[in-house]
Amino acid sequence: MRVGIGFDIHRLVPERPLVLGGVKVPFPKGLLGHSDADVLLHALCDALLGAVGAGDIGTYFPDTDPQWKGVPSRTFVAKALELISARGLGIANVDLVMMAEEPKLLPHRSAIQQSVAQALKVEMDRVNLKARTMEGLGPIGAGEAMAAYAVVLLE
Ligand code: MG
Repeated sequence: MRVGIGFDIHRLVPERPLVLGGVKVPFPKGLLGHSDADVLLHALCDALLGAVGAGDIGTYFPDTDPQWKGVPSRTFVAKALELISARGLGIANVDLVMMAEEPKLLPHRSAIQQSVAQALKVEMDRVNLKARTMEGLGPIGAGEAMAAYAVVLLE
């Protein structure tokens, strides 16, 4: 068995789509980044890569590389999955924490869990998502950013 942890944070800006776990969430702002800036999938990707000792997302998809501009972060997850399968490992379970002041993510939770499960090619019951606010504290609490943690267990 192998365990991995991932963390990511992105700035919220106007006139960008908000994509979380591969799901477009209606909101007047979106996350700034070279790819689609899917903070949740980026944290997940780092957890997957970390679990197999394969560095981090920047190792494989540097934000200086034009080929990754605007690409869906599902591409990064697919690549991480390949590395995992090549080592004879599969996903036991994934636990995700989304930190965002707004919008309320509960109405989107099941869609996001389903999307992440699809990206990982596992049943939905292997993916858990928790969403919380920062109680108005710090840059996330002020609505300037969103962050995510991911923990994965491979077997
Ligand atoms: Mg990122």
